[in-house]
Order: sequence, then structure tokens, then C-alpha cells
Amino acid sequence: MNKVTVLGSGVLGAQIALVTSVRGFEVAAWDINDEACASAAKRFDTFGAQMVRELDDVSADDLAAGRARLTQTTDIEAAAANADLIIEAVPENLEIKRDVWSKAGAAAGEHTILATNTSTLLPSEFADATGHPERFLALHFANHIWLNNTAEIMPHAGTDPKYVDILERFATDIKMLPVKLQKEQPGYVLNTLLVPFLNAAQYLLANGVASPEDVDKNWRNSTGAPMGPFEIMDMVGLRTVHAVGSLKPNPSASESAFHKILEEMIAEGRIGKESGQGFFTYDEEDNRVSR
Ligand code: NAD
Repeated sequence: MNKVTVLGSGVLGAQIALVTSVRGFEVAAWDINDEACASAAKRFDTFGAQMVRELDDVSADDLAAGRARLTQTTDIEAAAANADLIIEAVPENLEIKRDVWSKAGAAAGEHTILATNTSTLLPSEFADATGHPERFLALHFANHIWLNNTAEIMPHAGTDPKYVDILERFATDIKMLPVKLQKEQPGYVLNTLLVPFLNAAQYLLANGVASPEDVDKNWRNSTGAPMGPFEIMDMVGLRTVHAVGSLKPNPSASESAFHKILEEMIAEGRIGKESGQGFFTYDEEDNRVSR
């Protein structure tokens, strides 16, 4: 595998394209028009500077060599036809994903592997749109991919399992830590574990059972984990936690009570680590100082 096409060069697509090119692959980053490509070029600058600053094994020269392997295009058919692997990171919207995949899948070569970075949809919901469901699966990155470098690889029931192994090698080549799923699971591995864990912590607070300090202290001390659930929520950002909670159709009394607590905190500007204050207070290096 040598040539990788990334569809959508937004927050995640730009990170995937840049990291993949810096790690030695020829990358074409596609987006819908010149304006979107210009925004992506700015992201490459920002993310590139961060990579050099934050990674010991990427120098300014490595970044420049990666940038030289990275091209941008608005021609989806040509970008797809030329790829050994296509990674799609267009907006999290089923219609858009189906539309983009119908074009890219039709233009892709016989051997091209087709991967989606979807967070909340399942590959089986749009595998047919690719025209090659047996070569289609999810390759899911986490934001800030060069540091939070887990890559979850998830086939749907119609994926040929050999592509899971091929993507495992690719993920390793671009310095990700691959995690293989054997079947489809909403939320992959991480969110299947994390969401109920955070929900339980929210329940304990909303019902007046224990304070955030005591919940987190208990979890850290009893398991050896570096962070408890409230610190994790501060890291995710309380606006995101609030937005996820708002999606629940019939919230229970404790879910509504927790939602209210979050609304008050957000109104006070306590939105988590990015503001230095959430359930806890943080210093400039994001270390927890106190409540
Ligand atoms: P984003 O909005 O930053 O980027 C989407 C890109 O797709 C934009 O550059 C946009 O121009 C382009 N695009 C292509 N076709 C489009 C169309 N028809 N209409 C509008 N825009 C179009 O989104 P993102 O945060 O990079 O997310 C992309 C995918 O990655 C989603 O599936 C999301 O679930 C997934 N993801 C996001 C994160 C995250 O933290 N942001 C983490 C993991 C996975």
C-alpha cells in the first residue's frame, strides 16, 4: 500500500491526511471546493506545527517531506481511482456519506480498500453505497490523532476479514495503536465502556450520593487509574457532555438533574479543562489543582 486518499479535509480528515503523509505515504486530500481546500491547508500548517512540537520522532524536515507527499484536490473520481486505500472523513450525516461513497466507490480501483472514520453511524448503514461492501470497514481515529493514537478497526458483517488485518498493518505503519473489533458495535470498544461509566458517575452526583472529588478519588485510588470519571468529563469538555446528554429521548429524573447541573456550570464558564475550570480546577498544563 502506497497511495492513500482522504475524503473530507476537516478537523479529522486533515489530521489523518497529514499524519499519513508524514509517515511516508503519498496522500491526496479531497474536499468539496477550493474554499474548503484552503481551510484544510491552514489546518495542515497548524497541525504540522503541533506535531513537531509534541512528537519526539517528527522533525521540521520530516514535516516538510510529508507535506511534499501531500496533495489537495477537488476531483473525487481521480482521487479515488488513484488510491490503494480511501479513508472517508466527511460530515457525520448519512446522506452525505452515501453520496460521497457512491462517487468514490464507483471510481475506485479493483484492489482499493474503503474505510470510514464515522463515530456514531455503523458501516453497514452505508456499505451498499460503496458498491464494494466486502472491501469496506471502519477505521476510527480519535481527535488529536498523533497523540491520542488509538485506531479502532471495525468490520461489518459483509466485510472480508482479511481487510481488518491489512488495516491493522497500515495503522501500525502510521504509528497508531490498532484495536481490532470482530463485529459491528455502536460506539466501538472505547465508547461502549466509557459512556455507561460516565453515566454511572453522573447518577451518583445527581442523586446526592457522592461529590465529584470523592467519586474520582475512589476510582483513582481503588483502580490505579490516573483519572476519575469527572476529570474525564472535564477533558472531553462539558459542552460536549451536555450535547450528548441532550440526545436522550426520555431522560430520567437523575439525568435531568445532571443536565441542569451542567447548564449552570456552562453558564458560569466552567466548561472543563479548556477553560481551566469544570468539576475541578486546572493549571496551565491541565493538571488538576482542586475543585
Ligand atoms: P468536519 O466538519 O471538521 O469536516 C468535514 C469535511 O468534509 C469538511 O472539510 C467539509 O468541507 C467536507 N465535506 C465533504 N463533503 C461534504 C458535503 N457534502 N457537505 C459538507 N461538507 C463536506 O468534521 P470532522 O470533525 O472532521 O468529522 C468528520 C468525520 O470524522 C465524521 O464522520 C466524524 O464522526 C468523524 N470523527 C470526528 C472526530 C472529532 O473529534 N471531530 C473524532 C473521530 C471521528
